[in-house]
Amino acid sequence: MSAQPLTDFSRLAVHTFTTKPWNLAQACDNYAAAGIPGITVWRNVIEELGAEAAGSLIRKSGLEVAALCRGGFFPAFSAADRQKAIDDNKLAIDQAAAIGAPMVVLVCGAVVGMPLPEARKQVTDGIAACLDHARAAGVKLAIEPLHPMYAADRSAVNTMGQARAICEALQDPLVGIALDVYHVWWDEALSEEIRLAGEQNTLFAFHVCDWRPDTRHLLTDRGLMGEGCIDIKGIRAAVEAAGFNGWNEVEIFSEAHWAKDQRQWLSEIKQAYLNYV
Ligand code: ZN
Repeated sequence: MSAQPLTDFSRLAVHTFTTKPWNLAQACDNYAAAGIPGITVWRNVIEELGAEAAGSLIRKSGLEVAALCRGGFFPAFSAADRQKAIDDNKLAIDQAAAIGAPMVVLVCGAVVGMPLPEARKQVTDGIAACLDHARAAGVKLAIEPLHPMYAADRSAVNTMGQARAICEALQDPLVGIALDVYHVWWDEALSEEIRLAGEQNTLFAFHVCDWRPDTRHLLTDRGLMGEGCIDIKGIRAAVEAAGFNGWNEVEIFSEAHWAKDQRQWLSEIKQAYLNYV
């Protein structure tokens, strides 16, 4: 399956972490100047300003917010720590509402020494505990399955199927899935899970980057689209066939790319977006 080629930037959103050296004002100015209409905001860049000021800065730039990253990290050994996580997720929901983000992306969490099924149960319970707050704020919650290399301490939710199981347990239109090609490209069930997510209206977000076969770091060596081995066009075709018509969000953590002039980096991203997404 192959996607219709992208010929413009109308569905391009860039994560602030992709241009980590920039603060929020610099990101907004430069994305807008480059004709990039969407921004996904990481909490580190709003925390220096406060959510209200960040919201007005973004509104002034004319950019549309695709999402707030990130909430989650629900599992913990003590009830007090689990409650702390729930409170932090409610704060993230408030921040999302303040900046006009329709959803909070969840990196669900895992704790070394806790069996993964127990962690997934705590994730489900943690999301459930945030739902009334999310409903009142009008903010959705997108579970992002993370590559299994992160199962020890970042996320016990490692496949689209595991994310779907949580969605099915909670049965709430506010709960869905953020599909990041970096995390799920290898999964033989991917096409079928995308089809099911389309059917269940749970496909909330689509993140792109690439997997470098000679990856040098598990967190900060993502490739620009075209630098790796992911069939990004094929996955985009599948998500669009499943009814997804939202943002194509570029999310790249890369020491190598952060070391560049960030305006140059942004123009490389735009070119790669047209060629490889
Ligand atoms: Zn992502």
